[in-house]
Formats: sequence, structure tokens, C-alpha cells
Amino acid sequence: MPYCTGCGNQVAAASEFCPRCGRKQPKTAAPDWLQSLTPSTAAALCYLPFAGWVFALLILASEQNRESKTLRFHTFQGMYLALLWLVVDFALLPFFGFAGPVVRRAMGGTLRLAALGAMLFLLYKTWQNEFVSLPFVGELAEKSAAEQGFRV
Ligand SMILES: [Zn+2]
Repeated sequence: MPYCTGCGNQVAAASEFCPRCGRKQPKTAAPDWLQSLTPSTAAALCYLPFAGWVFALLILASEQNRESKTLRFHTFQGMYLALLWLVVDFALLPFFGFAGPVVRRAMGGTLRLAALGAMLFLLYKTWQNEFVSLPFVGELAEKSAAEQGFRV
């Protein structure tokens, strides 16, 4: 829960004014439209190809994220998938350079297609309220979500 900017009294995330001193409270870091999303829609947004990590970061900073471990899990899984994409682009593909440009391009295309497929699959399943945890990436996300839970 946030604190009043005037007197330091704890105020509810949704309240616009402090109940003790009446000072108007600044808006929370997450935009209003984000707060009004259902948890499954918010979680599904984390898997949007290319833009998912932006939503994941926004949701990670929002209040509703702290209340739901499942949502936290999806934000982390979405972010790790985006990271994986970067790793493929910058580390894995140059490694295949020795095999020639044709093999490299074929590998890159296949890996990107696989990652894109995984994201769209997760986006759909999560939106349908089905919990899908990928091997390795999902395990990492579960650990991160648990750690965040202890800190709050
Ligand atoms: Zn106050």
C-alpha cells in the first residue's frame, strides 16, 4: 500500500485522497487502464511478441501484481522469453556464423519462429485462464515470482 505524500499515513491504492489529512494522492506508477484489466488479460499482455516485456515491466510495478503470484509468474515468464529472444539474436546466431550465411539464416528463422509460436501460444492460453509453464523459462519465472513475494 502506498503512503500519503503529506503526512505519511498509509492509504489504499485506490483512494484519491488521504483519509487523515485529506491531501490529494498522486497516481500510482501503473496507468489506469492497466489497473482496470482483468488478471488474465494483464498476464496475457506479457506474451505479446516484441511489446510484451514493456507490459511485463509496467505490470511488475503495479499494485495488483503484488497481490497475485500467478500474475507475477506471467510477467517474469514473458520477460525471460523476451530475453531469450535477445540471447538468440546476439549470442547464438553469431555462433552459427562459421557454418555459413545460409545455415545461419535458417537457424535464425527457425528459432525466431519457435519463440514467436511459444509467445502466441502462451498469450492465448493465459488469456483463457489456463496456466502454462514452459520448461526452464517457467522454472526461472517461478523462482523469481516467489522471491518477489517474500520481499513485499
Ligand atoms: Zn495524509
